[in-house]
Order: sequence, then C-alpha cells, then structure tokens
Amino acid sequence: MEDRTKQMLSKMEWLGHDTFKITNDIVIYTDPYQLKGGLEAADLILITHDHFDHLSIEDIEKIKKDDTVIVAPSDCEGKCPEIIAMDIGDTKEVKGIKIEVVPAYNLNKDFHPRENNWVGYIFTIDGVIIYLAGDTDNIPEMEDVECDIALLPVSGTYVMTAAEAVDAALKINPQVAIPMHYGAIVGSFADASKFKKDLEGKIEVHIFEQV
Ligand SMILES: [Zn+2]
Repeated sequence: MEDRTKQMLSKMEWLGHDTFKITNDIVIYTDPYQLKGGLEAADLILITHDHFDHLSIEDIEKIKKDDTVIVAPSDCEGKCPEIIAMDIGDTKEVKGIKIEVVPAYNLNKDFHPRENNWVGYIFTIDGVIIYLAGDTDNIPEMEDVECDIALLPVSGTYVMTAAEAVDAALKINPQVAIPMHYGAIVGSFADASKFKKDLEGKIEVHIFEQV
C-alpha cells in the first residue's frame, strides 16, 4: 500500500453500515445512518440512493450546517433538502473533491433495479481515489473502476455476498478493500472476516472497528 493511501486510511472512520467519516481539509460523510450525537458537522455528504438506511434525513440533520453540500442522485430531489443532483456518468468538483458517479444495482435480486439509476461514487482526496460502491452486486461496470481504496458491501441479501464481493475486489484490484454494509440491518462481522480471509495474499483488506 502506498504511504498516501495508508495516510488516507488513518483519516477514515467507519460509523457502521455504509457510513464513513473522512476528515481531511474538509469533513465528508457517506450515507449517514444511525449516527450518535455530538459528531463534527459535515462539509460534504454523499448519498447513494433513497433507501432509509442510506438517505436518512434524521441523520443528515445531525451533521448538517449552513454550507453543507449534499450530493445525491436526482431522484432524491424533494426527499432530501437542497441536494446537488449528480447522476451516473456525471463528474464534478465539489469543495475541492473530484467526484464521479458510477452505477450500483442488483443482478440476481430486485431491491436495487438497474433502471432506478442509483449510484456509487469515485472520489479523490489528496490524490487518493476512493470508490464507494453503494448497494450493488458484482456488476460488470466495476471492471472500469480504478481506485486506491474500495468500500464494498459484503452482507448478501440486498447486496452482494462476501464471496461475490471477493470476486468484485479481485476485478477492481484496489490497494486496499474495506468491507461495509454489515452489522446494522443484515450481515455480520463473519461476512467481513470471510471477505478478508478469502482475499489473503491477493488484496489487502482493512476491517474498521465501528466507532
Ligand atoms: Zn438499498
């Protein structure tokens, strides 16, 4: 792992499910859900889709300040206050962060239909490229993802299983892969550790302690 990737990991915290907090020049949260109180306000919030465990107004309110920018796909308009709508294929620089929107959908289940155009994000902080996969299966578009850090769901049921996520990680080939989407609604630590074990010697996996 490159030093700058390692450094970026040290600026990241996992708050459970798909919620990461990244503290650099600005504070970024992804899909804030079931947040504790007393958290630092967000400069930027990335929302992948409008399911309650990803677009939670109650949680957004806990970290929103006057100039917080919320990026979300356009079907979140009207459900979430003042978003910057970004859809698949869009790229934009927001608060100094380059953001690219990529698809997220199911292949073998119906919870996240492709035609909903829900998303994942590829965003770059200090030259480190982070891929937040969103609620997805191991979709062919992942072939084209180039990133240093991949945040991948592993719980099964609504998203890919740990075994499918292993295949996705091998396809993406990041410097480090981080399991998410477990421990809250579906999935357990066992999924995260299976993911890590099955990638041993192939892809470095970092399992965050939940804070
Ligand atoms: Zn979902």
